[in-house]
Amino acid sequence: MTNTARLDALLKPELDALKERSLYRLRRILEGPQGPEVTLNGRRYLNFSSNDYLGLAAHPALAEAARRGLNEYGLGSGAAHLITGHSRAHHAFEEELAAFTSRPRALLFSSGYMANLGIASALLKRGDRVLEDRLNHASLLDAGLLSSARFARYAHGDVADLKTHLNEVGSRTLVMTDGVFSMDGDIAPLPELACATEAAGAFLMVDDAHGFGVLGKNGRGSLEHHGLGLDEVPVLMGTLGKACGSFGAFVAGSEALIETLIQSARTYIYTTATPPALAEAGRAALSLLRTEGWRREHLQARIARFRTGAASRGLTLMPSMTAIQPLLVGDSATALALSAALKEQGILAAAIRPPTVPAGTARLRITLTAAHTEAQADRLLDALQAVRPR
Ligand code: PMP
Repeated sequence: MTNTARLDALLKPELDALKERSLYRLRRILEGPQGPEVTLNGRRYLNFSSNDYLGLAAHPALAEAARRGLNEYGLGSGAAHLITGHSRAHHAFEEELAAFTSRPRALLFSSGYMANLGIASALLKRGDRVLEDRLNHASLLDAGLLSSARFARYAHGDVADLKTHLNEVGSRTLVMTDGVFSMDGDIAPLPELACATEAAGAFLMVDDAHGFGVLGKNGRGSLEHHGLGLDEVPVLMGTLGKACGSFGAFVAGSEALIETLIQSARTYIYTTATPPALAEAGRAALSLLRTEGWRREHLQARIARFRTGAASRGLTLMPSMTAIQPLLVGDSATALALSAALKEQGILAAAIRPPTVPAGTARLRITLTAAHTEAQADRLLDALQAVRPR
């Protein structure tokens, strides 16, 4: 047997097992831009599966800014930030992100996944502790697990349970949480988490991938929503590939925090800087966040109407007030069948299955955006009513 045949003989039964358990994942090949409607295999679909919450991913201002960036800088950054990859575009964007989040400094990372890994690698050493919400995003959980600190999880959103873990004194402890939970859409109890964390002499880090740009009057995210600042949440991570319609992520905090990340976050140091043109696109997105508050209002109106419409059709949604409006199904096969039935009707709503969510909690992760019309959201509700399992 060749080496490849031997390897395949090991892998194929594992892949077959995933198929049998309705856990096999397939990619969809999109033609053309992201938006409330997308094209797959030449057919138009209503899209309720993206994180493009403000409808900026295909906004001409972002593409134009990227084109300007390409003209000025070319495509590749050529090196890591600490070598020669850190351009004026990156630097200006960091200053604007710091100003927007009212923090002394901000630092760009290539992705949210890498930012989370970088934070944990820079702030935690052997003997330290990291405590995480059980339903944190995989990148936060991986960050904690891959760090050299002792790792524990507390029950979802359960500050009392967190406190039992915080009782242990003596080591540096980092508490990491999603601001808005990515698969449930609920908002973390940040004021209570901040209080408990501070009382125990620990530090709170918030991953605001799904709150940044969306929550708060000015779109500053979960912290603005709760009226929290730098003192309560010294480490803030935001991503740029969701509400900002672009790509990448940032960490914002004190001078010492950012310098520590620059000196020792491995996912910052040992990777090529993103193309400067992306930073220019991000700056354009940030400018739209500031000037076009109507996008957040549209989104809020869609969410409210969707929830009212679901209730009047007897559809039970999870208790979320954000753009993430999951419909809990339970088993993976039923979630897949429901997603396929919607697709037949020209609607995309992704079936999210374990291990992304706990066993027995497969769901349709429906996401609304500012770009959806009322009629489009109503069409989804009618289709859900027609195809839901009885
Ligand atoms: N944190 C959360 C809560 C997320 O949902 C995601 C993306 N799904 C990430 C981090 C990772 O961000 P990125 O896609 O920029 O790597």
